Amino acid sequence: MLKRLFASLALAVVCQAGFADDRPNILFLFSDDHALRTIGAYEESINRTPNLDRIAAEGAVFTRSFNVNSICCPSRAAIMTAKHSHANGITGNASHWNGDQWVFSREMGKAGYETALIGKWHLHGDPTDEFQHWEILSGKGGQGSYFNPSFRSAEGETKVEGYSGHIITDKSLAWLEARDKSKPFLLCSQYKAPHIHRIPAPADMGGHDGVDFPEPDTLFDDYATRSPFVADTWMALKGMKGHVLNIGPLQSEIAADPSLMPPFLKEMTQPQRDAWHAAYDPRNVEYRRLEKAGLLTGQAAIRYTYQRFIKDYVRCIDSLDKSVGRLLEYLDEQGLAENTIVVYSSDQGFMTGEHGWAEKRWMYEESFRSPLLVRWPGTIEPGSEISALVQNIDLGPTFMTAAGMEVPDEVHGIPMQPVLGGELPDSWRKDILYQYFDGGIPANRGPYNMPRHEGVRDSRYKLISFYDHDEWEFYDLEVDPRELSNRINDPKYSKEIKRMKRRLNALKKQYNVPEHPPLPKGKRH
Ligand code: CA
Repeated sequence: MLKRLFASLALAVVCQAGFADDRPNILFLFSDDHALRTIGAYEESINRTPNLDRIAAEGAVFTRSFNVNSICCPSRAAIMTAKHSHANGITGNASHWNGDQWVFSREMGKAGYETALIGKWHLHGDPTDEFQHWEILSGKGGQGSYFNPSFRSAEGETKVEGYSGHIITDKSLAWLEARDKSKPFLLCSQYKAPHIHRIPAPADMGGHDGVDFPEPDTLFDDYATRSPFVADTWMALKGMKGHVLNIGPLQSEIAADPSLMPPFLKEMTQPQRDAWHAAYDPRNVEYRRLEKAGLLTGQAAIRYTYQRFIKDYVRCIDSLDKSVGRLLEYLDEQGLAENTIVVYSSDQGFMTGEHGWAEKRWMYEESFRSPLLVRWPGTIEPGSEISALVQNIDLGPTFMTAAGMEVPDEVHGIPMQPVLGGELPDSWRKDILYQYFDGGIPANRGPYNMPRHEGVRDSRYKLISFYDHDEWEFYDLEVDPRELSNRINDPKYSKEIKRMKRRLNALKKQYNVPEHPPLPKGKRH
């Protein structure tokens, strides 16, 4: 309390006396669907990301950072509002954004920060005054295109030639350069990569040929101990075909018959198309050869699909990493690095072949976890590894606290400051709540044929409730980090299961989670 009072007094003195405002700047770098195993700083990494790794080396890598609801729109709304989905209204990807509600960025603007969001907003309903400046990807339901995307701002819509990630970086740098330099800034640079349909930047299209990335241990998961519907969800990696793997007609074939040109190539300029064909035609010729020879069946087909998928995924990350590097360089050149908190995160993690999937949504670790790297000179010791349980709802409160602002009691997130020094105070939260609502309504199991679920995770155990089906899962993450052995019926764990059920109820009560609406009538599992 005293600290807050001093911070408010200091702010009042700054404003009245016209002294330089030395509150920290915040550069929030955000991506879409970024799996932790494709960031060099994480232990399980399969690739190198020199610029992201630099943030971790000069700051901290968070090993237990989680989202509250593992899909795009709900994750973004949870960050903006610092609240769980049931409280901010964005429970699924079709929900409409209510911009009148409390958001941390508006508060920071009111407190004297210059604020901007550039890139992927992806909420249904444009921003109004959530940020003082916004330029958001438009088209494709707010996803925008990788090539020559349209951007919408308060002034209207413009199409910009180039690669989405490069343009977002250019716009971010231009905004930084033109900002009011007497004020601290909050800049959210939000990238589309590596969201499906993954097309890397031309300079990165040619990478990673001739190497095979390691397969996840669970690529051929048989779902033996899981709830019965888990095997039936529509997110299998093996279902990926055609353009989403950049499998398409050759340049010579399109030259002979232009009607063969797929829509994603039509969006490109001729030089961009030339780059795509130069990189992908040889791979697609090889694909046809393998298929003709009957070599792409059974597990071999899944292995081939995995390599096509993960290579494009990593190539998109390569482009993203370079963009991050350009922004870090600007901070160095301008002497801003010391007083700028740099945060890298993604709206969720992603299953990159784990359990045979290429998706998110589940409370299983690969999608429930989100990458989180934070560089904060003077507060975080370089090279730190922070294992405290944090969630995306904590980001806004952390930024506000760094700015000396008070965080209102109504929000669910808590400032991360107590755990940034490497200690884990006894008072820090012991468990976290997860809720996935985008199943069940209107169809029996909703999009992806998967059910609604909720659960609780602490530092060792995870309990998941598929409440529409009265099914539970329980994992001991210490002995089973891949979640292959559901122990819900194992008497050895009955005491822990009871305790976790109590904790789930307590967290739902703490956050005022309403009763689940009933499923519509119809066929159930
Ligand atoms: Ca996403």
